[in-house]
Amino acid sequence: MQPRKIVIAIDGYASCGKSTMAKELARKIGYIYIDSGAMYRAVTLYCLRNDFFDGDTLRTDDLLQHLDEIEVSFVLNSETGRPETLLNGKNVEQEIRTLAVSEKVSIVAAVGFVRRKLVALQQALGKNKGIVMDGRDIGTVVFPDAELKIFLTAAPEVRARRRLAEMQAKGQTASYEEILRNVKERDRIDETREVDPLRRADDALLLDNSNLTLAQQDEWLMTQYRRAAGIE
Ligand code: C5P
Repeated sequence: MQPRKIVIAIDGYASCGKSTMAKELARKIGYIYIDSGAMYRAVTLYCLRNDFFDGDTLRTDDLLQHLDEIEVSFVLNSETGRPETLLNGKNVEQEIRTLAVSEKVSIVAAVGFVRRKLVALQQALGKNKGIVMDGRDIGTVVFPDAELKIFLTAAPEVRARRRLAEMQAKGQTASYEEILRNVKERDRIDETREVDPLRRADDALLLDNSNLTLAQQDEWLMTQYRRAAGIE
C-alpha cells in the first residue's frame, strides 16, 4: 500500500532542535521541509535593514507601509540538499541566523498583520501535503488538521548550549549567557503574545529531548510518522 501523504507540524520552544529534526525527517521520507521561523527572521532582517526599530520598539506603521514589498521564498542548495531563505530574491540564510536578528524576531512575530501574511504563505506551501513544517503555531493555527503534530521541548540550558555550539561551528560569536537570555526571552514573548501564542495543540505529541541522542529522537519520530501515514 502506498503511504498516504500527510502534513507534519513540529512546534516548540526556541532552539530545541525543531529544524534539525524536521529537516532530517523530510529528507528521509522525501517530503518538502519548510522552516517557518526563517520567514519571521527574514521579515525581521528587512526591518533592521530599513531601520524600523527604535531600540526594542518596532515602528509598525512603517512596516505595514512596506509589507507588500517584502517577499520571502526558499531555494534548494544543490550542494547540501537543504533549503535556504531568500528575501526579495537575495539569499539571506546566514544573516537571518545572527544574534542581532534573534534578538528582535519575537517582536516582529507578535505583529498580527505580519502573522496573517506569513500564515497565508505557509498554508499555500502545504496545500498539496507531503510537507514537514516547524514553528510555533503550525499545529494550532497554520495546519490545525495536520495528521501528525509534535511539540518539542528541552531545558533552556541544554538549548542554549546546543545553539552556542551551532553558532561557533559557523564562526559566529556570542556568549553562553547572551544566548541563554535570548532563548528565555523569546519563549516568554512567544508564549504571552496575543496573536497565535506558542502553545501545545491538544492533539500534539509531547517530546522532551533534553536527554535524547539524535538517533533516539529520529527513531521515535519515524515510528510516529509510520503510524500517522498508515505504514506498518
Ligand atoms: O524557529 P526560530 O527560532 O528560527 O523562530 C524565530 C522566531 O520566529 C521565534 O522565536 C518566534 O518568535 C517566531 N516564530 C513564530 N511562529 C512561527 C515560527 C517562528 O512566531 N511559526
